[in-house]
Amino acid sequence: MNRISQNIKKIIGLVVFLTSIYLFFYFKYNDTAFILVYHQIGDYKGGLKSLYVKKDTFNRQMNFLYNRGYKSITLSELRYRIENNLPLKKVFCITFDDGYKSLEDAYYILKKYNFKATAYLHIKAILNGVYSYPNMPPADMISLEKVKKMLDVFELGSHTINHPDLTKISYEEVLYEIKESKKFLEEMLNVKVNHFCYPFGKYFKNHKEILSKEGYLTATTLNAALIEKKNVDFFFLPRVEWKEWSYMSFDDFFKNFEFYIKIFLGL
Ligand SMILES: [Zn+2]
Repeated sequence: MNRISQNIKKIIGLVVFLTSIYLFFYFKYNDTAFILVYHQIGDYKGGLKSLYVKKDTFNRQMNFLYNRGYKSITLSELRYRIENNLPLKKVFCITFDDGYKSLEDAYYILKKYNFKATAYLHIKAILNGVYSYPNMPPADMISLEKVKKMLDVFELGSHTINHPDLTKISYEEVLYEIKESKKFLEEMLNVKVNHFCYPFGKYFKNHKEILSKEGYLTATTLNAALIEKKNVDFFFLPRVEWKEWSYMSFDDFFKNFEFYIKIFLGL
């Protein structure tokens, strides 16, 4: 009898312990959101592994979020929700950098789950049809005609014209990249372009003033973190790189530890 009551005490202790941990994470992450960042959807073709997520993996990731009740929202809505102190529970954003041909594969997967995403276009590479970068195999880009047909899923953002490191060019050149890329996309595709993504995730703090003056609402970086309402800066939004498990280092995992906890607990 004594032994049974000791076991019951242990079980109660464990339940209290696990509940406290859950509540701790619940209050910490329940009102946070996250922005996912992808580059190419498809098999690894060489160069930086972090730039690829296989089609199957991408589908599994979207399926996981869908089954857990997450809903994708646009970056404009994210900003609106934060500014109006609306709940962020179970909402997230999806972003794609550069505008690779594989956007089309992502499109059909996103459509299946009724998810929306933002595609940041690197204009020069798209006009060339291919993006060549040192130590990377040349990558096929999506065409503007194809992009036009996918606007029911993708909102478009600027990723500059020439994809320069903005911290290494003059103020006039930065202004040109930010201003002309927006103008080009808006005129060519007849859409509003309100969002920007820093090439290579590189920026200076004063880029915020230029972006805001040119009419952008948000800009994303490659810094890893969740979106918290307090202290959010819409012009330096962090993003989560949800990599293939097999390509993930310890460092990658710990960098996004809060994200994995959040989605594992379904918060
Ligand atoms: Zn890029």
